[in-house]
Amino acid sequence: MINVLPNCIGCGKCVPVCPFGALSLVDKKAVCGPACTLCGACVSACPVKALQMPQRAAAGADLASYKGIWVFVEVINDKGVLKNRPVSLELLTKGRELANELGEKLCAVAVGANNSGLYAEISAYGADIIYSVEGPAYADYNTAAYANAVITLIKKYKPSAVLYPSTYIGRDLAPRIAAEIHVGLTADCTGLSIKNGNLVQTRPAFGGNIMADILCPNHRPQMATVRPNVMGRAAVSAGKTAQIVREVAPVPASAAKVRILKKEIDASAEVENIDEAQIVISGGRGLKTAENFRLINEIAAEFGGAVGASRAAIDAGWKPKNHQVGQSGVTVKPKLYMACGISGAVQHVVGMENSEVIIAINKDGSAPIFNVCKYGIVGDLHQILPKLLTLVRDSKK
Ligand SMILES: Cc1cc2nc3c(=O)[nH]c(=O)nc-3n(C[C@H](O)[C@H](O)[C@H](O)COP(=O)(O)OP(=O)(O)OC[C@H]3O[C@@H](n4cnc5c(N)ncnc54)[C@H](O)[C@@H]3O)c2cc1C
Repeated sequence: MINVLPNCIGCGKCVPVCPFGALSLVDKKAVCGPACTLCGACVSACPVKALQMPQRAAAGADLASYKGIWVFVEVINDKGVLKNRPVSLELLTKGRELANELGEKLCAVAVGANNSGLYAEISAYGADIIYSVEGPAYADYNTAAYANAVITLIKKYKPSAVLYPSTYIGRDLAPRIAAEIHVGLTADCTGLSIKNGNLVQTRPAFGGNIMADILCPNHRPQMATVRPNVMGRAAVSAGKTAQIVREVAPVPASAAKVRILKKEIDASAEVENIDEAQIVISGGRGLKTAENFRLINEIAAEFGGAVGASRAAIDAGWKPKNHQVGQSGVTVKPKLYMACGISGAVQHVVGMENSEVIIAINKDGSAPIFNVCKYGIVGDLHQILPKLLTLVRDSKK
């Protein structure tokens, strides 16, 4: 929270400036409440400089002591087999490039119950050091336990930058860590590079109309979440063995607030991770009804692919939100992406344009989706999709 210094004169100018309603006047002094997000809007509004941001993790002269690019490696349990989530390997690939440019080490952070079998692959993707925190408390993801493990490592080893995947876990973990160590976090980056020793974190802004480059020159570590499927993936150091550093972190009492009683796979989510599917068949508003969307489900099932949707289709309630492709959904990079009745708004395109082959079906020949597709079919999807379905089924007989 913002610090209110004793020289506050109780003028109240800060109160309406706070976008979160976190400030109030009590006994003619400003008081900051828990709604404060440390946005800093009030600091410049105070005429007597009585509002101050709290001390950050590292500022000024201390910056030089922060070294190394870190990647939080997320692990998935694929039908009983532990695997490094593909986006973790994408981050290691990018991290290696950034670490080389800085002349620093690439370090992986592995938290789990028994992840040692995955370290060879992490090494092959270029990690110099793997910081490992293992124990039964980490068998399932737990925000408090995982956050504390990573914070313990950050405080001890002082990395220059920490990268997390923009997955459900990464999006939960990274803000928690950023808030606890008082650093910024750039969410959903689509590009990372180095400029004057700082991490340039690129992400879409203003509805995807511009790409913003975000820098944190005064504080460390720099932290970013990165979308799956936007970085390449390449094992660069086959046969290399990273140094394994095993650490123990206290599990905070707050971790016990969450207990996993039962795990169930949602049968309605046909493919659990649409961002890892090799074939994605997507439908948009052009389908007109939820009933028509069934065609998309059936074609996807015939191809063994996942079902995607534009935001318009999601907003209409035709598919659950986890199927949304695009800027405020998931980024996909399948071998085949088929867009049916989707116009190709920029917010949709940023989530699928890196697919290997894109096929679009749209009745409007000037729809922007045709600018990004390899094969375009101008026509009525209500006539084309049933024919396609019959063709695919016949070809299997
Ligand atoms: C901040 C922000 C974030 C957003 N995030 C996302 C996001 O993550 N993902 C996303 O998808 N959108 C997102 N949007 C919304 C986006 O701008 C578009 O509104 C949305 O993608 C449009 O969906 P659509 O293409 O299905 O619908 P429309 O734009 O309405 O297009 C429907 C298309 O169907 C075609 N069509 C109609 N009938 C037929 C037929 N019978 N046969 C063939 N074609 C037909 C039409 O010609 C048209 O091109 C976001 C917007 C904002 C402002």
